[in-house]
Amino acid sequence: MTKPVILTVDDEPEVLNAIERDLRRHFAASYRILKAGSGEQALEAVRELKRRGAPVALFLVDARMPRMSGTALLVEARRLYPDARRVLLTAYADTEVAISGINLARLDHYLMKPWDPPEERLYPVLDDLLADWSASFRPPFEGIRVAGSPWSPRSHEVKDFLSRSQTPYQWVDVEQDPAARAEAEAASPGLRHLPVVFFPDGTALVEPGTRALAEKLGLQTTAALPFYDLVIVGGGPTGLAAAVYGGSEGLRTVLCERETTGGQAGTSAAIENYLGFPSGLSGADLARRATAQARRFGAEVLTAREVTAIRADGPYRIATLDDGTELRSYAVLLAPGMEVRRLDVPGVQALTGAGVFYGASLTEAATCRGTDVLVVGGANSAGQAALSFARYARKVTMLVRGGTLSEGMSQYLVDRIGDAGNIEVLSRAEVVGVHGAGRLEAVDISCGGAGKGRTVEAAAMFVLIGSTPRSDFTAGLVARDPAGFIVTGPDLRTDGRLPRSWPLARDPFLLETSCPGIFAAGDVRLGSAKRVAAAVGEGSAAVGMVHRYLESV
Ligand SMILES: Cc1cc2nc3c(=O)[nH]c(=O)nc-3n(C[C@H](O)[C@H](O)[C@H](O)COP(=O)(O)OP(=O)(O)OC[C@H]3O[C@@H](n4cnc5c(N)ncnc54)[C@H](O)[C@@H]3O)c2cc1C
Repeated sequence: MTKPVILTVDDEPEVLNAIERDLRRHFAASYRILKAGSGEQALEAVRELKRRGAPVALFLVDARMPRMSGTALLVEARRLYPDARRVLLTAYADTEVAISGINLARLDHYLMKPWDPPEERLYPVLDDLLADWSASFRPPFEGIRVAGSPWSPRSHEVKDFLSRSQTPYQWVDVEQDPAARAEAEAASPGLRHLPVVFFPDGTALVEPGTRALAEKLGLQTTAALPFYDLVIVGGGPTGLAAAVYGGSEGLRTVLCERETTGGQAGTSAAIENYLGFPSGLSGADLARRATAQARRFGAEVLTAREVTAIRADGPYRIATLDDGTELRSYAVLLAPGMEVRRLDVPGVQALTGAGVFYGASLTEAATCRGTDVLVVGGANSAGQAALSFARYARKVTMLVRGGTLSEGMSQYLVDRIGDAGNIEVLSRAEVVGVHGAGRLEAVDISCGGAGKGRTVEAAAMFVLIGSTPRSDFTAGLVARDPAGFIVTGPDLRTDGRLPRSWPLARDPFLLETSCPGIFAAGDVRLGSAKRVAAAVGEGSAAVGMVHRYLESV
C-alpha cells in the first residue's frame, strides 16, 4: 500500500524547509512527507491526492499566510479528508486564530513556533495524533472504484460491464459516503455526471461509455488486420465456439461483441445442464474460459464494438462497425442471439436502470440485500434469477402470467423455488404500471383477470419475459421470418424452391443464410434449440461450413 501523506504548508521557505526536515527525520519510514509554499498550492495538491485516492494522515499548516489563511485551507482540506488530523502552527499564542481554527476547521491541535527541540515539542504531539488516525484508518481499496448513485442507470451499466468483464471493482454510493461524494465531486462538479470511475493509476473517467471503459481496461477494441477469412458477429456461446474453432483451424478470425463476451449465458449464475460440468458452472466462468481459449488460438476478440450493417460486394463480405469503420472478409457468421423483451407499461421507461432491470442482472443481486424484489416471468431464466436473488433479498415475488410455474419451467427449478422459504409465486399476474420519483418505489399488478389489482412496494424489479432475436442490422441482406429469426439451409425453401435471390447452383449449407458466405447460428437462427450446448454446437459446426465455402471463393 502507498504510504499515507503528511502535508506541511508555510509561506516562509526557511520555516517550511526546517519543518519538512524534522518531519522526515522522525516519520519518513511510515509516511510520505509533502510540502507546499502557499494555501492555494496546498489545496491543489490535496485535490490531486484525492483524485489519486491517496490517504492523508495529517495537515500541519502555518496559521497566517497571505491570500489563504491556515484555517481557510484546513476547512477545505477537511471536506476532502474529514479524518485527517489538523494542526495549526502559530508564531505566538494567537488565541483568536486558535478559536476560529477550532470552530471552523475542527482543529486537533495548535503548535507554537519554534518547535525546538522537536523530540519534546513536536514529535510527541504528532505521534499521538497519528496513532489516533491510524486506529480508525481503513486503507483505501487499491483497485478500480466506481462512485455513483444506485439510481443512476449509467452507474448500473458500468457496474454490469465491469462484472461481466470479470474486472474486480469497489462500488461506492455517493449518497451514503460523504468522502466518496467529495472525491467524485472533484472529478464531476455538482455530480451532474455519474458514475466517476477511479483507476489505480490515479486517472478517472466521468460517466464513461462502454468503449472508453474497455479501452482503459486494455481490452482489444480495434481489429489488427486489414482482411479476415471469418468475421463473427456476437460473443455469446455461439460466437465464442466459432472463434475457438476458427482460430484453431488456422482461419484469420475476428469476433465483434457489442458489450462484453458471454451473451445471455454470461448472465446466468449457474448453468447446470451443460455437458461435462456436473455441479454446474456460472455463465461468467464459461465466458472467461472460452474468451481466453479463442485468444490462445489466435482469434481476435473485439469488445464494445457493435456491428451496425453487413453487405456483400462480389466475393467480399463487409461488416460496418458503430464508428463507421469496416471489417472485410470472405465469410461472416451471424451469432447476435436474442435480447430480453421490454415491458410496455406506464412509467417503466423513466425507471429503467433505476430499479427496473432487464434480465437477471446479477450485478444488482447483492444490492438487494434485505429488500423486497419482484421477478417478472415464468420461464427457466426467471426461475434461475428468482433463486439467485432469494439469497440476498428479504422476499422475492415472482409474477407469472400462466396458471402454474410448471407450465414454462424445468421441474428442478420449480422444486427449488418451492423449497426456498422466501419466494412467493403469484400466478396469472401481470405488471400494469410502475411508480417512483427517480427510483422504483411501487408496482401495480393485475392478478387473476379483470378488476383484481393491487399495488406492491418494491425497490427492484427484474424483467425476464421472453426474448426477441437481434437481427435488425441484417435486414434486406438475409431472409428472416416475421419474428426476426434468420432462416438458414433447408428452411430457405418454400414449396420446395430456394429464394430467387440465391445465386449458386449448389444448395445453401445447413447454417448458411440466403446470402452465400453469410452463416447464422445459435439463438438468432430459426429453429435453433435456445440452449448453451446447442449454441456451442452450432458455432463449432458453422466453421466446418465456412471451410467448405472458402474452397469455392
Ligand atoms: C438468464 C439466462 C439463463 C440461461 N440458462 C441456461 C441454462 O442453464 N442452460 C442452457 O442450456 N441455456 C440457458 N440459457 C439460454 C442460453 O444462454 C442461450 O441459448 C445462449 O446464450 C445463446 O447463445 P448465442 O451465442 O446464440 O446468443 P447470446 O447468448 O444471446 O449472445 C449473443 C451476443 O451477441 C452480441 N451482439 C448482438 N448483436 C450484436 C451486434 N450487432 N454486434 C456485436 N455484437 C452483438 C450480444 O451482445 C451477445 O453478447 C439461459 C439464458 C438466460 C437469459
